[in-house]
Amino acid sequence: MFTLDLSGRRALVLGVANHRSLAWAIAKQLHAAGATLCLTYAGERLQKGVEELAATLPGTLVLPCDVTDDAQIDSVARELGQRWGAIEMLVHGVAFANKEDLEGSFVATSREGFRIALEVSAYSLINVANRVLPLLEKNGAAIVSLTYLAAERAVPSYNVMGSAKAVLEQATRQMAYELGPKRIRVNAVSAGPVSTLAARGIKGFVGMHKDHAERAALKRNITPEEVGAAALFLLTDMSSGVTGEVLYVDAGYRIMGV
Ligand code: NAP
Repeated sequence: MFTLDLSGRRALVLGVANHRSLAWAIAKQLHAAGATLCLTYAGERLQKGVEELAATLPGTLVLPCDVTDDAQIDSVARELGQRWGAIEMLVHGVAFANKEDLEGSFVATSREGFRIALEVSAYSLINVANRVLPLLEKNGAAIVSLTYLAAERAVPSYNVMGSAKAVLEQATRQMAYELGPKRIRVNAVSAGPVSTLAARGIKGFVGMHKDHAERAALKRNITPEEVGAAALFLLTDMSSGVTGEVLYVDAGYRIMGV
């Protein structure tokens, strides 16, 4: 029998910016199931907001972690090593691309714009996992990241973020292969469009969100709670036989032919 009692399990959650963040939807469900959490924030600008959210989930730690800074990632690993000794769940909900690279010509993506998008949105999954690996190895662990259909389809304006998501999904499979013997599973949730800070940075997002609801098999958009529930499944023993997969939570948009 599988149960959803996560008491005694610890989760490191990257990517909470505010109450709309998909990482926040996941964090809330993990906490409700009994897990102990550490939320990270990127830069002082977000510290207060993330601390206020964390305060609503008693026992939650908050640490700074800009994923472009190895010293900050190592400091999170050190802190959690001392406090917890092990991490059983890692949630990656981090993505960034320069605004000018999310509109206009994909072919005109600058070298620096490509580097930043891929580094923050894809390399960070590999690098963070590597830097906290001793903690993940202790008891075995599950890693979940958030991806989008632009990894495999051409989507207007997603441009270099589609490139980053393609790498993120490839990394999911390669990491699943390499970390499997260490009892570490790696999966991704491919979410349909949800109105968050990052999504609103995509030119034409509002029209695309509406169009998505009309075309999806379920004739509606998804909710952050549905992303949270799917992530919960992938992070717990309910999915103990699943690794290297992308789970679509898109109200049946991707399956449609027209
Ligand atoms: P969000 O609330 O804006 O979350 C994105 C997070 O990434 C923010 O917390 C952001 O912090 C963080 N981030 C950016 N640069 C960072 C850095 N250098 N170091 C650490 N963190 C950094 O938007 P979201 O929609 O929930 O995005 C979460 C994930 O879901 C992303 O991977 C996104 O691509 C994916 N996703 C979203 C949708 C959607 O429609 N919303 C659909 C499919 C997949 P700052 O605010 O400081 O930049």
